[in-house]
Amino acid sequence: MSGALLTDVSQPAAGGPTEAEWAAAVSAITRLPADGRILLICHVNPDGDALGSMLGFGLGLRRLGVRQLQATFPGRPEVPEPLQAMPGLDLLVPATEADPDPDLVICFDVAAVSRLGDLADRLDRAETAVVLDHHASNTRFGGIHLVDPDAAATSVVVEKLLVRLGVPLDAGIAECLYIALATDTGSFRFDMTTPAVHEMAARLLATGIRPGEISRRIFDTRPFGAVRLYGDVLGRTRLEPLAAGGLGLVWTYATLDDLKRHGQRPYTLEPLIDSVRCTAEADVSCVLKQVAEAEWAVSMRSKGASDVSRVAVALGGGGHRLAAGFTGYGSAPEVVDAIRAELARGEAEGAQPPAGQPDLE
Ligand code: 5GP
Ligand code: MN
Repeated sequence: MSGALLTDVSQPAAGGPTEAEWAAAVSAITRLPADGRILLICHVNPDGDALGSMLGFGLGLRRLGVRQLQATFPGRPEVPEPLQAMPGLDLLVPATEADPDPDLVICFDVAAVSRLGDLADRLDRAETAVVLDHHASNTRFGGIHLVDPDAAATSVVVEKLLVRLGVPLDAGIAECLYIALATDTGSFRFDMTTPAVHEMAARLLATGIRPGEISRRIFDTRPFGAVRLYGDVLGRTRLEPLAAGGLGLVWTYATLDDLKRHGQRPYTLEPLIDSVRCTAEADVSCVLKQVAEAEWAVSMRSKGASDVSRVAVALGGGGHRLAAGFTGYGSAPEVVDAIRAELARGEAEGAQPPAGQPDLE
């Protein structure tokens, strides 16, 4: 199927990019001279959507004939083991080697400048910055915004831009976009898994990629040390049925010492929230992952009644209504105190529907 053009673009999503924004993004790319330098950036600690969207688009730019092309992300230049077989990884350079003076910067899955770390200066140095994202909390940094809060993943926006650029799907691009889409929809389980999401998945699968092999590699493979680590961390999970206005809060934390004891890298903890959020007695779930002595990367999830994006934004982070995060400072109990207080504030201000009538929209 490589060679087939991507999908119909005649129906813009409500709340998504305007025709003028699509046109500006296409023009920013196509008007670059042949030796124009493009720098692709995704968010710190990249996940499947960040990396898949960026590398899938990078492979598309390559097909367009772009030669001066780099992809990068801030912080440690470490790709999580499950993503280390992704096509297009040869485009990646460590942030320290990223072009200091690109002509065009394109950001993927980045909701706020803070998620660009030391690479934020490229936004000012480049002539044009295009932002592809799907976070409702996107702060609209950069010059050209392709931000669609209704998109299930940033890769949905990427596919639409590739169509407008006339780039056909091939198996390499498709695998990147499939990993991105599967990651952000929880393997097509979340509510944002619309008919359009399955139609996109069908276009990607039609290139011949192997969903079973990809899913096993990305989601279902973990070192034995990680299994033991999860045992320790899940063993200290706390349930607070009265928190979040009686909707319930469940939380746990993982320390740097936990990682060290089991010989695991920090990204091993990314799927941990999925084991915590299944708790039937709590609407809100949290995992605190220690980054430094008094610093925690916090993941939050809601089953529907609570808006964790509101809580995350109030505490300096961002995300989506049902999945959000922020960086917390202090001890683990202090960070949970702040979350509890913010959840209670939302309840007091009537930001949530009454218990028992969850708003599942
Ligand atoms: P996760 O819990 O999977 O790391 O993140 C869930 C969602 O929250 C993602 O959409 C992610 O972009 C967002 N998120 C997580 N941590 C932060 C943060 O520190 N700042 C911002 N702005 N968003 C975050
Ligand atoms: Mn995403």
